[in-house]
Amino acid sequence: MVSPRQNQIEQLKSQNFDLLVIGGGITGAGIALDAATRGLSVALVEKGDFASGTSSKSTKLIHGGLRYLKQFELKVVHDVGQERAIVHRLAPHLVKPEKMLLPIYRGGTFGKFGTSLGLWLYDFLAGVKKEDRRKMLTVSRSLEAEALLRKENLLGGGLYAEYRTDDARLTIEVVKTAIRFGAACLNYVEVTNFIDENGQLTGAHCQDFTEGNAFEIKAKTIVNAAGPWVDSLREIDKSLNNKRLFLSKGTHIVVPWKRLPLRHSVYFDVKDGRMVFAIPRQRATYIGTTDQPFKGDKGAVFAENPEIEYLLDAANALFPSVKLALSDVESTWAGLRPLIYEEGKSAGEMSRKDEIFISKSGLISVAGGKLTGYRKMAQKLVDLVLKQQRQTPIVCVTKQVALTEVPFANMQEVLDFQRFIEAKLSALDDPQTTAIYLTENYGRIAEQIVAQAFSEGKKSDEALVLAELAYCLENELVQTPTDFFERRTGLLYFDIQRVQRHLEAVLLAFQNHLNWSSAKLDAERAAMLDLMKKLRPWSV
Ligand code: FAD
Repeated sequence: MVSPRQNQIEQLKSQNFDLLVIGGGITGAGIALDAATRGLSVALVEKGDFASGTSSKSTKLIHGGLRYLKQFELKVVHDVGQERAIVHRLAPHLVKPEKMLLPIYRGGTFGKFGTSLGLWLYDFLAGVKKEDRRKMLTVSRSLEAEALLRKENLLGGGLYAEYRTDDARLTIEVVKTAIRFGAACLNYVEVTNFIDENGQLTGAHCQDFTEGNAFEIKAKTIVNAAGPWVDSLREIDKSLNNKRLFLSKGTHIVVPWKRLPLRHSVYFDVKDGRMVFAIPRQRATYIGTTDQPFKGDKGAVFAENPEIEYLLDAANALFPSVKLALSDVESTWAGLRPLIYEEGKSAGEMSRKDEIFISKSGLISVAGGKLTGYRKMAQKLVDLVLKQQRQTPIVCVTKQVALTEVPFANMQEVLDFQRFIEAKLSALDDPQTTAIYLTENYGRIAEQIVAQAFSEGKKSDEALVLAELAYCLENELVQTPTDFFERRTGLLYFDIQRVQRHLEAVLLAFQNHLNWSSAKLDAERAAMLDLMKKLRPWSV
């Protein structure tokens, strides 16, 4: 019998696509969606799982980037700032408003006046609605907002609007939406070389890692959206010139919310002059990030002890009473920013602007940029593809394309739905947190997942996890337990105990669904256990 995956590969082999996108991070996913909604035939291949590169390793903010204001990158702040409200509207359950507190200390990056003016400009550039605009707080109001702040030298604070998301979930929702519009998107397929006819690319050689087949995809235009791997593909295309990527590593750590019980996200100064976020997220709080040049294996990027200690020191300096220790860290992640190299600038100083390179062979490479600006970046790129293909311009419609099958109209609907789900989970521990988690991850599909989980009458957390898995196996192209625990659910970062509790049941469900041999089951178990160790490097 031909597997559904094999069917998809047959489809990829049989067509001459308008566009082949290489890379299933947010950039590639956004481009595939934009092109598919404008009527182009689109193929997208991803060598690992969707979002397995940088797009599951960010700070998970849909933000204008206050730091860019500091660097006078007003256009970046304007463009990505405006995008926040758009992406929120397209998926309000997944891109949620989040108040950010910027505490002001004597001798800090922004003084009181600077913060007030900076946040005003930030709101102005991003077109923030009146009711959401920044509020300046006195010392006592700042402490009312966050009681754990260091009191010494505190001058006040600025409270302003941002949005929080889950980067990997956002990516998969964009991929699923692209598929709904007819794009053929497949994970675990790597582009290994290009097909060149008379100096022009006409397709790519691909390798499928799940069933071991090599095959070709033909396309009129090829877009290289390979994030940190963009230059590897430019090298294959022999088009790597002096405009190159510069990879900067950023690490985050996760502690239990109970150990750092914040009410708001906080963006704060660190003694080396950098700024770091501390972000509450249900039962956890995460802290990040670092910004260090990276030269190692792009496929194996993990937090290292000095980075973890740097982040713990940063948090302890701002919240001195909590005294976080290594033993509080439950999980970590680290990713690579694919920045455009600029002579003489440090990692932190380099621009986060996106850039497009077009090679002689016609390969279009896109790099830099931010999660937040993915939709706009995709629009720009597809405009270019249409121009190159001499097609009549077709208007970009992604501002109107909801990133879920049955969308929520606004935040109130999200909150009402969350309460509805919470009522159904009353037999479980902490139904509120689980309801928020399910709604953020799956939107209205959460109802279907809960119904399936409890269909046999037994209301357990394990039944719920297995119903989530069943949904992801059927609808989200999940191939391995890591896909599920790291990128579809985020549990590996934010609730690692839940992973430990349900790992065996999940492995067995995979075995049944994908007909795994016991050797394959053992290999997948070993891969998960190894990954969990790498996320806690001090314990190895
Ligand atoms: P990736 O997500 O890396 O995707 C590229 C994909 O291409 C990979 O999955 C890879 O496997 C695949 N690929 C590579 N080679 C091949 C091949 N030959 N064949 C097939 N597939 C291939 N932005 C924000 O807006 N908000 C934030 O809060 C934020 N925080 C950040 C924090 C950190 C620490 C970092 C590192 C970045 C942050 N960013 C943030 C930036 C944002 O995460 C990135 O701009 C974005 O995720 C890049 O996405 P991408 O699709 O270009 O790259």
